[in-house]
Amino acid sequence: MKRSNTRRNFLKATTAGAAAAGLVNCGEPAQSTVGGSTTTVTYESLGMRPIINGIGVVTVLGGSVMPPEVVAAMVEASKNFIDLPMLQEKVGKRISEIIGVPAATICCGAASGLTLGTAACVTRGDAAKLRQLPDTTGMPNEVIVQKSHRFGFDTQIWMVGVKPVEVETREELEKAINDHTAMMFFLNVAEPKGQISRADWIEVGKKHAIPTMNDCASDVPPASRLRQYIDEGFDLAIFSGGKGLLGPQASGLVLGDADLVAAALKANSPRAGVGRGMKVGKEEIMGLLAAVERYHRIDHDAERKELDARAEHVTQALNDVDGVETSVEIPPIANQVPHVMVRWDAAAKGLTPGDAVKKLRGGEPAIAVSQNAEGLRISMWMLKPGEHEIVASRVKELLA
Ligand SMILES: *Cc1c(COP(=O)(O)O)cnc(C)c1O
Repeated sequence: MKRSNTRRNFLKATTAGAAAAGLVNCGEPAQSTVGGSTTTVTYESLGMRPIINGIGVVTVLGGSVMPPEVVAAMVEASKNFIDLPMLQEKVGKRISEIIGVPAATICCGAASGLTLGTAACVTRGDAAKLRQLPDTTGMPNEVIVQKSHRFGFDTQIWMVGVKPVEVETREELEKAINDHTAMMFFLNVAEPKGQISRADWIEVGKKHAIPTMNDCASDVPPASRLRQYIDEGFDLAIFSGGKGLLGPQASGLVLGDADLVAAALKANSPRAGVGRGMKVGKEEIMGLLAAVERYHRIDHDAERKELDARAEHVTQALNDVDGVETSVEIPPIANQVPHVMVRWDAAAKGLTPGDAVKKLRGGEPAIAVSQNAEGLRISMWMLKPGEHEIVASRVKELLA
């Protein structure tokens, strides 16, 4: 009895001491001691203002804002130690079952998924080969890609030690395949720009037993896309966790063939190798699981109706303004959600779309929107409830 009392007192004292030293957090808001007083760490404490996001799911604005159940899962995950490799296995399995694909694993973002997926195709999970990367001596080291599918993030593929082989037609594709071919890469959003369709890409890959990987990072909604490309025959499909899924910003999914996904997991942190710098923490792993479960459960039609209603409000508000025209655009592949396009005669108003973007960003509250040659492009997607009204009235003020 005396012993257990002593032990309890010891635990109490240690916990209190650790808390005082800032070592125990237990899901409370982060605290720091500045000039002797305790302050909560916020963006405002750094002199930064939160931004109303009328651009959409872009990394430079923070991706998405996580729903409460995702945050709760991360906080819960933060409280205990866990066998991380086992957690990766179990969460991957659970996610594959929810989505309905043979296998899944969590990566630190779609960009890292490209690296891990490529490493998987090159090494097929061979431990010695994984250690050897990015030296691909003795391994297939060519990745075939349509010229129109080259993009800024494909560095994440080449850093594995492979090189691009560009093709434009199906005939060139068939000719390009040889013993050095490791993978055929497809950028989903670029499909309309290329001469070779998804179906043909898959067919040629299967005919020659070359794995195909599709980067569809920004391509939910619709939710059906999460499994569509694997159902169609791609061996790997890569999605961002912090975009449409509303998971942690630094998370992503590698989906597809069981052997390749297992190899991608072997290429991932915490194992040494090309993926070690792309760590996924227990918090992101559990947060993305919660996000995938939520995405599976929610009423996507209701969400879309809400976005349509916001677009309707913004267009109505701006159609009242003289010399202003609006329309609603829904991109066919990535970011397939309503965007309000606002056009006006820049000379007549003395305001270019670029000026308007700067004024909105510098105003109070700060509003981020994008522009193209025609005018402003305002995404309804990442606005919080009611913010579409603020955006509509600020844009109206600018153009009135
Ligand atoms: C956003 C994006 C990526 C990168 O995704 P992260 O999750 O930010 O790493 C890769 N490819 C495409 C097509 C994207 O849109």
